[in-house]
Amino acid sequence: MEAVSLGSNLPILIQTMWKEGLSYSDLEKPEAIISRIEGLKEIGCSLLRFAVPNMEAAEIVGNLASMLTMPLVADIHFDHKIALRCMDFPIAKIRINPGNIGGKEKVRAVLSRAEERNIPIRIGINAGSLPKDLQKEVDNDELKLPMAMVKAAERELDIFKEHDFSNVLVSMKASSVADTISANEIFSKRSDVPLHIGVTEAGPLIAGVVRSTAALLELLSKGIGDTIRVSLSDTMEREVIAGREILTLLDELKGDTIRRAAPPGLRIISCPRCGRAAFDTHGFTERHFKKLYAYKKNMSVAIMGCEVNGPGEARDADIGITGAGNRVLIFCKGKIVKTINAEEADDVFWQELDEYSS
Ligand code: SF4
Repeated sequence: MEAVSLGSNLPILIQTMWKEGLSYSDLEKPEAIISRIEGLKEIGCSLLRFAVPNMEAAEIVGNLASMLTMPLVADIHFDHKIALRCMDFPIAKIRINPGNIGGKEKVRAVLSRAEERNIPIRIGINAGSLPKDLQKEVDNDELKLPMAMVKAAERELDIFKEHDFSNVLVSMKASSVADTISANEIFSKRSDVPLHIGVTEAGPLIAGVVRSTAALLELLSKGIGDTIRVSLSDTMEREVIAGREILTLLDELKGDTIRRAAPPGLRIISCPRCGRAAFDTHGFTERHFKKLYAYKKNMSVAIMGCEVNGPGEARDADIGITGAGNRVLIFCKGKIVKTINAEEADDVFWQELDEYSS
């Protein structure tokens, strides 16, 4: 497992969450899971969280952690024995709220094991599951929801302080963008504890990306947030790509010519396609989606539909592809370097990209 470091001068890490069920048979033939997780890493995922609802899941996730370089996070509710078992394995982080574990002895057992193994713990506060007294105050309009989330996080942190445990992160998520922003802003003014940020239950692909972008850009541009997740009713891969694009946008808005927030990779410019198109931009981007996002060079790539606007409008791109009649053009910085048949276009594009970037 790779080490994970967080801090104001360190890269912002992209996280996603495993969305499938697990069973012991997955350990007998782990190749498919390992390959998918390695694929997530290739496209920019730095942390992968697993729900660990029972001991069986603890065994499976723990064993997977032993096989992978991707740091795994075990997400546990209530049962401290599951947390203890997970920490027998090379787990990178535990998400558990000490206030939900039960008696002080159980909390002490979890924290001392985490201390011994140098495993950070994330406190996860969700707007929909606040402690009853805080929820009552919110319902009675005595407390605003963001402040209630902050208080819930601080309560959990107080338990850590009692035990002198400081290897901790906090997340405060709501499905409301405004409440998510507000809770994290308030908290960051009161504490230096690193934050994992995201909008929970953000929605299906388009709604979820839009809502998450609004919240994460606002927070990240103020220096708030150390790890991010774009929660989508969609695939893990799309969550990771959305996270990357948000970090790329953060760099762009800050005027950073060098990527500071986003991991190294291609900036993809692609046209929406119209009646003039002689090249299927949608099909090309879909076919090469993972490979494009796994390419680790800081370059811009243009995927354009036609010759009319292709090399011209995308002349700043390092390399581009577009159609002209029944032929395909490859261009570098607006200059056509290859004219080829459609059948050979994909291969030639990658050859030219490799050559240009070497
Ligand atoms: Fe249409 Fe060509 Fe512009 Fe694409 S590049 S939107 S095909 S005019």
